[in-house]
Amino acid sequence: MQQIQLVERRDGFDYDYRMRCDCGRSSPLRARAYADEINHAHMDCQHCGADIHFGRAVIAIRDEKDPALGDEMVPQLAWYHTSTWPDWPSRGFAEHAIAQSGDAAKRLRLGREHALEQATISALHLGTYEAAIENMLRRMHDQADHAAQFYLYRIRLRPDLRIEAGYRDENLAEASRLTAPQLEAAGLDVVRYLNAYEAEGTLSLAVRPAAVAAVQEIAIPVIDLVEVARMDDRLDLAIELAEMQCAANSASVRPEELTVHERKLITLGLRPGPDDVARLAEESHLALYAKWHDFEDELARLYLRGVSPTVTRDINDALGTWRRTANDHDPAQFTTRYRQMAALLTESEQVIRLLAAQPWRDLPATA
Ligand SMILES: [Zn+2]
Repeated sequence: MQQIQLVERRDGFDYDYRMRCDCGRSSPLRARAYADEINHAHMDCQHCGADIHFGRAVIAIRDEKDPALGDEMVPQLAWYHTSTWPDWPSRGFAEHAIAQSGDAAKRLRLGREHALEQATISALHLGTYEAAIENMLRRMHDQADHAAQFYLYRIRLRPDLRIEAGYRDENLAEASRLTAPQLEAAGLDVVRYLNAYEAEGTLSLAVRPAAVAAVQEIAIPVIDLVEVARMDDRLDLAIELAEMQCAANSASVRPEELTVHERKLITLGLRPGPDDVARLAEESHLALYAKWHDFEDELARLYLRGVSPTVTRDINDALGTWRRTANDHDPAQFTTRYRQMAALLTESEQVIRLLAAQPWRDLPATA
């Protein structure tokens, strides 16, 4: 088999941003300032002094000399993607998509063939390692995938691709919902676009499935990267939190569940009444909420060294959804999950080395 060494293009997770001004040029913005939305999200243009209301809508390319801007470089780069499908982007992946969205299709009265068509004609989206990981975090937070098993893919493109000149700005031009037939009609295999949603300011690709030569795959998080289920001794906060959570779980008796005998005791002033119970419950709920917040900050300090404040917020949001819906608020389990997810960011070299050592799965050129 042909051995091709792909070029890695790493941005890391400790990056800053650039914001576009109406004058056409861009100015730098620190991740801390972006996360805190300093000056109500306003900054001055470095070039003309005009006010820029910063955010996704005016995100600019981070690196004007991004190697992905060179057409000859695009097929030489390693591209990445995350998915909840274990055999992406095969026919099986399309079939699976339908099984997953079967109920939605029924509600929308879409036929099975139509659903299959939709699943198979979508363009594939590829980006940097960082963009792929951040896409997973966004899906865990925004969608019903907070507890899903994810897979990370490393992608090799075919040579001699028809690539659109320059890049599209995701804010200004259609890029994220491009379909394979649209690309085909335009005589293109690949469209570059500026990411405004994950790894903001980097270039991603929308490609026809036939542009993908082969993929490598691993399940993530990589469990072996961290010790499992051992509460860190330094995390006194976790023990305190576990006690508070336990107390809150057992104290959640609703007033309407009180027995006649208990109501009598309340009337006689021998027990706190429903209003008192509700007030105490509310107070303990707020204290618990604040404690979980402190705990997440502590985990970020311990396990997300060298990760920017914006990406830290994204991982906390993603895992917060998991904690509230799937984890039953257990600090020890949460810590394990947090460390596993954090390792995808802090131990990315190891993750990529492991992925790059997997066998390639070749895809048919007619896909
Ligand atoms: Zn300007």
